[in-house]
Amino acid sequence: MTIVDAFHSVKEDDKPLLARRYHNTDNCKIGQEIPDEERVEGNGDYTLCEDCAEA
Ligand SMILES: [Zn+2]
Repeated sequence: MTIVDAFHSVKEDDKPLLARRYHNTDNCKIGQEIPDEERVEGNGDYTLCEDCAEA
């Protein structure tokens, strides 16, 4: 488990505000499924993903 710079998917914008998540670990499955072209640096002012929060 490695903490990395916060990132999120551009597709979070399509979700309801309270469902939007960002990630900050390198082995989060949800984070890993974000394709490079959809990956955006920063937390987007979203909620930290539950998997990343357990890190
Ligand atoms: Zn995550």
